[in-house]
Amino acid sequence: MTPLLWLTQAVLITTPRGETTVPVTLERGNAAVGAPRLAAPLGLTLALDGSRVTVALSGTAFVFQLGAPFVRAGGVVYALVGEPYVARDTVFLPLNWLADCVPRALGGRYRWEPGISGASGVDLGGGGRLVELPVAAAVTATPPPVLSPAAPAAAGASASPSPPLSPPPAPAAPNPLTGLRHSHRVVIDPGHGGADPGNPGRHFPAHLVEKDITLAIGRLLRAELVRRGIGAVLTRSTDTLIDLTDRGAFCKADCDLFVSIHVNAMPESRRGDQASGVETYFLSDAKTEDQERVAQMENEAISFETGGSSVATGPLGYILRDLQLNEYLRESAQLAQLVQDSVARIHPGGNHGVQQAGFMVLTTARRPAILVETGFATNRTDAGFLASSLGQHKIASAIADGIVAYLLELERKLAVAAPTRGR
Ligand SMILES: [Zn+2]
Repeated sequence: MTPLLWLTQAVLITTPRGETTVPVTLERGNAAVGAPRLAAPLGLTLALDGSRVTVALSGTAFVFQLGAPFVRAGGVVYALVGEPYVARDTVFLPLNWLADCVPRALGGRYRWEPGISGASGVDLGGGGRLVELPVAAAVTATPPPVLSPAAPAAAGASASPSPPLSPPPAPAAPNPLTGLRHSHRVVIDPGHGGADPGNPGRHFPAHLVEKDITLAIGRLLRAELVRRGIGAVLTRSTDTLIDLTDRGAFCKADCDLFVSIHVNAMPESRRGDQASGVETYFLSDAKTEDQERVAQMENEAISFETGGSSVATGPLGYILRDLQLNEYLRESAQLAQLVQDSVARIHPGGNHGVQQAGFMVLTTARRPAILVETGFATNRTDAGFLASSLGQHKIASAIADGIVAYLLELERKLAVAAPTRGR
C-alpha cells in the first residue's frame, strides 16, 4: 500500500450498468461524497432549495438540511454521521447516508459492502461498495443477462456492462380515480364504543348514540378509501372499547395518516341546539400545560423507525423529536383543512372550521392526525343527517376526498424531479 493510495479513499458504486469509483473526502472531519458524482452511476437527481437538499433515488425523495445531521425519507428520519454541506459549488453528502440510510430506506434495492477492494484492484481504504441489485427478473419477457444477484463482483467487473432490459422503477402510473402514484395506508378511528357510548345524541332516533354513528361512518370511510385504491384499517370494527392511548398507536411507520371520527354536542343550557356543522381538529401546539403533557408523552414514546433500533437519544434525539413533532403539526393542520373543506361542502349544518386541541387520541399517533366532529347531535338537522344512510355516505365520501387531496399534496412535495426513464 503506498501512502498515496491510502489517502485517496473512495467508494465503489456497482450497478447492472457498470462500476464507478467515487472519491471520499474527509475535509470536514466526517467522510462525505460529492452528490453530483453519484448522479450518473445511480441515476439520482439533486435539487438545492435554500438550505434544503432533495435527492431523488429510485423514486424515493431524501430530504436533507445543510448543516443538519439527519435526512428524511418517506416520513422516516434517519440520523447521519456528519452533515451535508456545500463546498466549491458542490453539495457533499455524508458517506454514512450511502452506506447506511440508502440500503435501509430502499430495502432490497441496494446493499452496502464495507471495506472491499474494487474489482479494478484499487485499494478503497475501507470505503466500501454500494451494490445496486438487479430488478426482479420476472417482469421481463426475454431472459435478463444476470438472473441472480449472487455474484455482483463478477457482474460489475464484466467488460460489457449491459443495461437492464426493463427500465428502473419509475413512479407507478397514477391511479385513474385519484391521480395518486404511490400506495398509502390510513388508520380510521371510530370514536368511543363498547361501554363508552359517546354523546347520547339528543336528536338521534331513540336507539342511536355517538358510538354507532362513528362506527357506521368509519366503516363507510374504509370502503370509500379502498375504492380509491388506498389501504385503510379501523381501530375498531365492532362495538368494542379501545383505550384512548392505544388508538393512535395503530398508526406507525407504515401508516400515512390517522383520522378519528366523532359527533359533537352542545350543553342544553347554552342554546346548544343552534350550533351545527362539521369541525376538524388537529393537535394543538399551544403553550399550555397541555403542551407540556404532550411533549412529555412524545419524549417518552416517539421512537424513530430506523430498521429496528432507536437512534434518537441525547441532544440529537431532542432536536429530531422536536423537528418530527413540528412536522406532524404542520402536516396535521394541512390535512385538517383539506378534510374540513371537503366535508363542509356537503354538510347541511355548514362549516365550523378547523380547530386545535390537545386530544389524547391524537397525541399518540406517529403521523399526521386529525379528529373530525362530523356534526352536532344536539342540532335537529345535523342529527337527522348523521343518522341517515345518505348523510353517512356523503360524510365518508367527503372525508375520503379530503384525504386524497392531502395525499396528492404529499406526493407532489416528495416528487422532486424523479427519474422518468420509464416513460
Ligand atoms: Zn366523541
